[in-house]
Amino acid sequence: MLLVRNIRLPLTCPDPDAEAAAKALAILRVPARRAAHCGVAKLSVDARHGTPVLVYTIAVTLKDEGEESALAGASPCVCYTQPPKFDFTTGKTPLTHRPVVVGLGPAGLFAALLLARRGYRPLVLERGPALDERIRAVEHFEKTGTLDPNANIQFGEGGAGTFSDGKLTTRVGDPLCAFVTGAFLDHGAPADIAWRQKPHVGTDLLRGVIRSIRGEIEALGGEVRFNTALTGLHTRNGALTGIETTAGPVPCEQMILAVGHSARDTFAMLHGLGLPLECKPFSVGFRAEHLQTEIDKSLYHGAAGHPALPKGEYQLSQHVSGGRCVYTFCMCPGGTVCAAASEAGGVVTNGMSLHARDGRNANAAVVVSVDGSDFDNDPAKAVAFQRRLEQAAYRAGGGNYLAPAETIGSFLAGRGALELGAVQPTYPRGVTPCDLGSLLPDDLSGALREGLTAFGRKLAAYRTPDAVLTGLETRTSSPVRLLRDKEDLQCTGLAGLYPCGEGAGYAGGIMTAAVDGVRCAAELMKNWGPMAD
Ligand code: FAD
Repeated sequence: MLLVRNIRLPLTCPDPDAEAAAKALAILRVPARRAAHCGVAKLSVDARHGTPVLVYTIAVTLKDEGEESALAGASPCVCYTQPPKFDFTTGKTPLTHRPVVVGLGPAGLFAALLLARRGYRPLVLERGPALDERIRAVEHFEKTGTLDPNANIQFGEGGAGTFSDGKLTTRVGDPLCAFVTGAFLDHGAPADIAWRQKPHVGTDLLRGVIRSIRGEIEALGGEVRFNTALTGLHTRNGALTGIETTAGPVPCEQMILAVGHSARDTFAMLHGLGLPLECKPFSVGFRAEHLQTEIDKSLYHGAAGHPALPKGEYQLSQHVSGGRCVYTFCMCPGGTVCAAASEAGGVVTNGMSLHARDGRNANAAVVVSVDGSDFDNDPAKAVAFQRRLEQAAYRAGGGNYLAPAETIGSFLAGRGALELGAVQPTYPRGVTPCDLGSLLPDDLSGALREGLTAFGRKLAAYRTPDAVLTGLETRTSSPVRLLRDKEDLQCTGLAGLYPCGEGAGYAGGIMTAAVDGVRCAAELMKNWGPMAD
């Protein structure tokens, strides 16, 4: 693929996407008939010098891909990205039992997919139900406040990101991202994820992709057991020999453990067995909601509302006194705030959006970092801290999973009021006015106030006092890491166990979790061949 950057067009251009594509081909000196496709990789607005202009990056794929590398130097604004090649080697010694994958989030799904494609017929255990039943459980919870601790926004087929914006952005630049993108495309994700610099799928389309990937795993001889949780491990001489599940024991010598950041009972089990679980940094705070139009105005200035422009996205961060960092996270343009609890009596916020991103509000987590030093480096204390905040939020909401909320102006002044203006909160169980600062330790609320004040200097929308904060956001990433060997990815001190994905502390997001799943499956395959029939 060739990327042609810095194509600048006036706002008055009648069909700027087509014009930008034509300019890209002209820069490459390639006639349109030789291009397989031209797509918008990135579109921004440059409003620095008076009249705003549209600034495009166009992705071009040629019918003869061999020609692409020769065009890399066609102009300083052209760059060439080579399609990566994957070399997954498989070991000669056959496995005695099928490999087990625990958890069917992105990490487990992609580990199982690679194993299935290479003939390993993995057994996948997932504590929650299949997607259709899970969606019904989530909708029932949103309507009635009856929470199923195994079928919710965190647990069930597809894992935590199923009800999400489906952003596939990552800063890891790992060539395995192309494997994941390729599988998403094979299973019906929108074609533009192949070339967009900030690809996103949306919760509506993501669901079909997840079901379809599971179908491929099963068609290749893999087996998925829903409503089945891992509860214990059997070991001998520093190696895994079997596992316990809610449906009984399973013989197992190779297991990819991809349980996500909310599997607190599983973390406790691992800790209890003396496995090397340590604290890792995570963050807590709340969801901020603005009108999407306000975000667009802040980012696009005079160009806001131009039909070619995507819904505005932002990412902000600020180092604050005390050495902490306050930042925005998981921004969902045109999305809604979701009720992401997985434990009874706790309120947790998060965000999601449909592919069209056509909701009235934009939301983003606004969070402050904490780390092991806040918890005496004790993983159990870190999890207890998250749980305490979630329970405090539940009580402040008044019960029945209503969430505490406050407008930004009030939070900055410490008034505890919900002075609603143009922004209507979208948290589905409803909100209760609350002094959000009182739910967090003083130094963290102080840090969030300092951070939000700084955000107001960076993005005008953060100066609107009626933006709404809903809390608490506690599941930003895993509070723990299960140590693994850097080379063979097996758990330190326990051969045959591959800690994987976000829960084990090796990913943060859909793409990085999926890539880690592929990486763990590839390591397992290096050592072992598929089980003999
Ligand atoms: P998970 O997705 O958490 O999957 C773990 C799975 O393991 C779950 O299905 C769980 O039920 C199962 N499990 C847990 N314990 C056990 C057990 N003992 N036995 C059997 N099964 C078990 N990231 C992005 O990159 N883009 C986004 O737009 C985005 N939006 C998000 C929106 C929401 C609402 C949420 C909650 C998260 C979002 N994320 C997003 C984060 C992303 O979803 C996670 O980083 C990613 O899902 C982690 O993948 P994983 O496979 O490691 O774990």
